[in-house]
Amino acid sequence: MKELEDRIRQEGVILSDTVLKVDSFLNHQVDTELALSIGREFGRLFADRGITKVLTIEASGIQFAMAAGIALKVPFVYAKKKKAVTLAEQVYSASVHSFTRQETYQVSLSRNYLGPNDRVLIVDDFLATGAALVGLVQIVREAGAELAGVGCVIEKGFQEGRRLLEDMGVHVHSLARISSMAPGEIHFVDNDAP
Ligand code: 5GP
Repeated sequence: MKELEDRIRQEGVILSDTVLKVDSFLNHQVDTELALSIGREFGRLFADRGITKVLTIEASGIQFAMAAGIALKVPFVYAKKKKAVTLAEQVYSASVHSFTRQETYQVSLSRNYLGPNDRVLIVDDFLATGAALVGLVQIVREAGAELAGVGCVIEKGFQEGRRLLEDMGVHVHSLARISSMAPGEIHFVDNDAP
């Protein structure tokens, strides 16, 4: 998605060979028009897949899941990282190891909002090691729902997330695929061809 790649080039801050900061427009302050364009793009890509629900994980996937839900005219739901007291016992859950934070946490989702009749699009802001998305795939499978695919806003293609998901038979579509980066330099998979 050219508009997204341009913004990453203009405003992204590459902190190291593996960490990209996009706080000014994607996941701290959010450019709402760009978020809606991202949702429309996911909507276009998954239009004929019979999606009934968009699933993400709090917090930084929420704006894109909502935008995709608007485009597809379906609800979105997000997995919670801390079990709320109001969530009672009826939850699907998966454990996720965060390599950025070096901690393992539980994600959970009420059984009321996902079930065998659902056809799910999973959306998230970043695909890096894939741990968070693998947790969501496990939740979809536990619910007996059908997974139509995973949509990521930014994929760091040099990390192992895509391979991990594809090994699970999951179709992955990312709007900006970074092939390599270093402070002051970034390359995308599609646009770098000579
Ligand atoms: P995972 O390693 O499970 O694929 O990524 C987990 C989460 O870490 C992502 O959803 C995203 O919120 C965050 N993350 C991973 N890599 C980056 C990065 O380079 N920049 C930012 N801002 N967040 C990241």
